[in-house]
Amino acid sequence: MGLIVQKFGGTSVANLEQIHSVAKRVAKTYDQGNDVVVILSAMAGVTDGLIDMATKISESPEKRELDVLLATGEQTTAALLAITLNAMNYPALSMLGHQAKVVTDCSFGNARIIEIGAEYLIDIIKKRNIVVVAGFQGCDIKGNITTLGRGGSDTTAVAIASALKADLCEIYTDVDGIYTADPNVCEKAKKIDKISYDEMLNMASLGAKVLQIRSVGFAKKYNVPVHVRSSFSEEEGTMVVSEDAGMESLIVSAVTHDKDQARITLKKVHDQPGIAAKIFTPIADAGIVVDMIIQNTRAQGQTDLTFTVPKKDFQMAMEIELKVAEEIGAVDVLGDKNIAKVSVIGVGMKNHSGVASIMFNTLAKENINIIMISTSEIRISCIIEEKYTELAVRVLHTVFGLDEED
Ligand code: ASP
Ligand code: MG
Repeated sequence: MGLIVQKFGGTSVANLEQIHSVAKRVAKTYDQGNDVVVILSAMAGVTDGLIDMATKISESPEKRELDVLLATGEQTTAALLAITLNAMNYPALSMLGHQAKVVTDCSFGNARIIEIGAEYLIDIIKKRNIVVVAGFQGCDIKGNITTLGRGGSDTTAVAIASALKADLCEIYTDVDGIYTADPNVCEKAKKIDKISYDEMLNMASLGAKVLQIRSVGFAKKYNVPVHVRSSFSEEEGTMVVSEDAGMESLIVSAVTHDKDQARITLKKVHDQPGIAAKIFTPIADAGIVVDMIIQNTRAQGQTDLTFTVPKKDFQMAMEIELKVAEEIGAVDVLGDKNIAKVSVIGVGMKNHSGVASIMFNTLAKENINIIMISTSEIRISCIIEEKYTELAVRVLHTVFGLDEED
């Protein structure tokens, strides 16, 4: 018995029948003696539909108004679930973000939670009410409705779980957990029982499809145990928790890939103070996130500098750098969109040497050229040609002993 936060994603509340299944699951948890707080997403496709409508009226709708509109998706499901629970004779109360005192900053469309007024919710829960909170939304200190960015209900759930000091935050979704690799690419990928916050954060490209990555940062900061599981089965999913001793036996926990990468190289830039700042400041000012950067060793006072950006920002980044190149006297700017990033991730790497060499040798055996490398304490990433992505994931999955045995 304890306090459990249960979050259900859009595909789990896509229609009344599914909302009824959700209600049954919530009721079961409640009947076991737990206090339950439910966080809901909008019905699958609804948020997209609302955005479509708004952009039919105006190319760039006022962000404040768009948030008022988008928040209705979660308002609908929260009310419908409370009505369903009431009809089943359970005391349930639906609440919008501002009623649940989810206070955010005022960046409409991508707001960050500043605080949650927990006392109010605790009061209601103590009276054995089931609270159903509309996810994804909050309000700023002026009372404006805000939303937390796509997939933001996960963050609502983790934030409320941490504010209420819940025993567990369950994220119910349409997959049965986090996998050692994308099962669409690697058929031997298997479900991970337990993974650390840091590994999950490093798995952004794999994990972000399942959990809004911001929610994982939140969970780590406040040490909220998160259970990612399917709303269509009773099976256990993946526990995302703080690192423990039991995790160290595996050197690599997952292999991820990310095709959303493009590379830009500035040829023969002067190797002198201030040049990197000139290259990257306008990129940052344009809101483009740079991932990897490498600078070659100096030859005749000049060096080549290569970095990666998301594919969608490639064109803009190229235009910016062509201007910069002229300014700083770089000889050429080259771009390449046909690249991908393949990474191996694992907290066990901290205590093992040789992981990088196994990775490089394995790729070499397949004749896959490594274009760039970056490493952190628990991750090694290589940029390779995009066409080798699937092959690279599969051979790395095998060499690090992650294959599902059949
Ligand atoms: N409904 C919102 C979205 O589609 C938030 C969420 O589902 O988490 O992004
Ligand atoms: Mg989601």
